[in-house]
Amino acid sequence: MNEENPREDRYEVVIIGGGAAGLSGALTLARARRSVLVVDGGRPRNAPAAHAHGLLTRDGAAPAEILSAGRAEATRYGAEILRGTVRTVSRPTDQAGQAGQAGQAGQADEAGFLVTLANGTAVRARRLLVATGVTDELPGIPGLADRWGREVLHCPYCHGWEVRDQPIAVLAAHPTLAAHQALLWRQWSSRITVLNHTAPAFEETDLRRLAARDITVTRGEVTGVELTGGTLSGVTLADGTRVPCRALVVTSRCVARAEPLAGLGLYAEEVVRDGVVLGSEIPSDFTGRTAVPGVWVAGNVGSVTEQLVAAASAGVRAGAAVNMDLIEAETARALAEEGTA
Ligand SMILES: Cc1cc2nc3c(=O)[nH]c(=O)nc-3n(C[C@H](O)[C@H](O)[C@H](O)COP(=O)(O)OP(=O)(O)OC[C@H]3O[C@@H](n4cnc5c(N)ncnc54)[C@H](O)[C@@H]3O)c2cc1C
Repeated sequence: MNEENPREDRYEVVIIGGGAAGLSGALTLARARRSVLVVDGGRPRNAPAAHAHGLLTRDGAAPAEILSAGRAEATRYGAEILRGTVRTVSRPTDQAGQAGQAGQAGQADEAGFLVTLANGTAVRARRLLVATGVTDELPGIPGLADRWGREVLHCPYCHGWEVRDQPIAVLAAHPTLAAHQALLWRQWSSRITVLNHTAPAFEETDLRRLAARDITVTRGEVTGVELTGGTLSGVTLADGTRVPCRALVVTSRCVARAEPLAGLGLYAEEVVRDGVVLGSEIPSDFTGRTAVPGVWVAGNVGSVTEQLVAAASAGVRAGAAVNMDLIEAETARALAEEGTA
């Protein structure tokens, strides 16, 4: 299917988002002989990084290369993949749609969903798998966002090895969280500095724990990043002090990409840990089933802490759950038809 050729098609499952979670769901569902459409905006979260790590058999591959292989695997079983952006999701307003709006699980099957893309293309789906990921909101320090995924980092398991033994600065968002991050990154380098920045003062216990591992806390607001030869070489503080570093650890706020679901009354909720808002995610059960019948989530949109392998695993789990839900609905329909025969 082609976004330049708008038409209204029907699929058993429409998957919104073709990252690790969405493509794993597509592979599972297509192999279960379901008709599947993946609509993907082509902006996976790790796109700024040159390489992805920690994904068994693919360690060090480029993010685009991993997704390209994933698309080939899913389409081999008949999944369709469309580059585009889903703008809204709603219940169809025609007769079949209204019949299903009572909210029963079986009726949701008849109603299905109308998925509308930014270019006006509309497709129908009996079930939805939402795998839209998150948007990383970064601290508003000039120049910082340009180095995101290169030397401005969030996860030592993704990037720690590559910056091992280098001077690393941790930009504090909150003292407890920053102490945790600094102690964690200390595993990769003995040259860790915590930048107090605009966070409240550290508790004495945290300062003692940090000092015990030779980690210093530098006071003062960070006002800029310094580059040498195009890569990060340090940060500058408001009083002009320069703190050298080759990597800057930040806390990004991971905001669930949930806007298209507002029409279904499905919203993301804030995730708060240690008093810090980490972002938002759409609540679901272990399989990804949400509060709206017929809608599942997988990957970062349902869990901000998931990495590639966990996002892929969530996609498989949700795909299997969607398939079983369709089987239950088809069995209920067959029984009902038997009763009226
Ligand atoms: C800089 C960086 C580096 C990382 N490095 C690693 C690493 O080395 N190893 C690791 O395991 N993890 C890494 N991660 C984490 C990893 O990127 C995520 O865990 C993973 O991308 C989550 O997969 P996902 O499928 O949930 O979402 P994503 O990969 O973000 O995919 C979501 C997809 O949905 C699409 N989409 C969103 N909204 C819509 C819409 N309305 N319509 C259509 N499509 C839409 C997006 O365009 C995107 O293609 C890194 C993260 C960052 C930020």
